[in-house]
Amino acid sequence: MRFFITSKDIGIDLGTSNTFLYVKGKGILLREPSVVTVNTKNRQVLAVGIDAKNMTGRTPEGIETIQPLKDGVIANFDLTEQMLKKFIDKVNGKGVFKSSRIAISHPSGITEVEKRAINEVISQVGARKVMLIEESVAAAIGSGLPVNEPVGNMIINIGGGTTEVAVISLQGIVISKSLKVAGDELDKAIIGYVKKEFNLIIGKRTAEKVKIEVGSVYADEDERNMKISGRDLVTGFPRAVTITESQIREALKEPVNSVIEAIKAVIEQTPPELTADIMDKGIMISGGGALLKGLNKLIYSEINIPVYIAEDPLDCSVLGAGMCLDIIDKI
Ligand code: ADP
Ligand code: MG
Repeated sequence: MRFFITSKDIGIDLGTSNTFLYVKGKGILLREPSVVTVNTKNRQVLAVGIDAKNMTGRTPEGIETIQPLKDGVIANFDLTEQMLKKFIDKVNGKGVFKSSRIAISHPSGITEVEKRAINEVISQVGARKVMLIEESVAAAIGSGLPVNEPVGNMIINIGGGTTEVAVISLQGIVISKSLKVAGDELDKAIIGYVKKEFNLIIGKRTAEKVKIEVGSVYADEDERNMKISGRDLVTGFPRAVTITESQIREALKEPVNSVIEAIKAVIEQTPPELTADIMDKGIMISGGGALLKGLNKLIYSEINIPVYIAEDPLDCSVLGAGMCLDIIDKI
């Protein structure tokens, strides 16, 4: 007979694009897109996560795939709640949630009411303690930055809906900027470019694939290209074209520039002592967008401060959420 209760520390990253779930001692047990498929007539949830994402752009009438979080805010609370519950159920089969401490990282734009509601959803699974943490702080902790120390740490987290640029010292955000230009906007820019240059309509999933496989924002010798198919704007028939890396660079120029401008604005507003630290230690980039080829080089070329890509950019926030419970114990 076992008398002890194994209490666990759990981190959840509720992101616009992806939801991750980490259990201390077990690792990341869930990595799913934040997507829900619903029957639009009775609002019944038909699928969540990767199953739902695979249906994007392929659903018949009456069925819709929805991202319940958009641009860093919860666009549909009811669906966010149902999605989160389904994810938790998937992992909870392993009995990890009862009497756990759960830290959840969330986009910075959510309201106090939404925070309370997330707290409630998480409490319902039997958590002993729930803690909410801003994504940039979670990402900074998860990427190994010494956020406890009185030094300036700069993190740029580029997710699906928002880019968060923040300077953190002594566990607090000193200065930050959140902009609604991130992965989704890059995909849209590719869709717009292909439409204008090739008279071709492509879907969101194709655009994301182009970005991930041959997207680049800084020129180098290795110029790749990719064949993509879409619907001809004039004939309405399917057609394939080849898009090159330099064409994608052109397509991404404007949204990427807004990110660079935000970084410059934050640096300009940062107190001088902290700027000196950042010059010295460099800038960390995290989130899926950190994987965009050449982004670190482009930022460096614009601001002359070294830029480091976090070891596992997509995992930083969830690991940081899990780890912040340890930090709380120590203070
Ligand atoms: P969120 O925190 O908003 O859920 P994530 O940090 O999970 O976002 O990042 C998701 C975004 O990262 C998506 O827009 C996705 O297309 C993008 N992404 C993932 N891998 C890559 C890659 N290799 N290159 C460029 N973008 C990527
Ligand atoms: Mg994120």
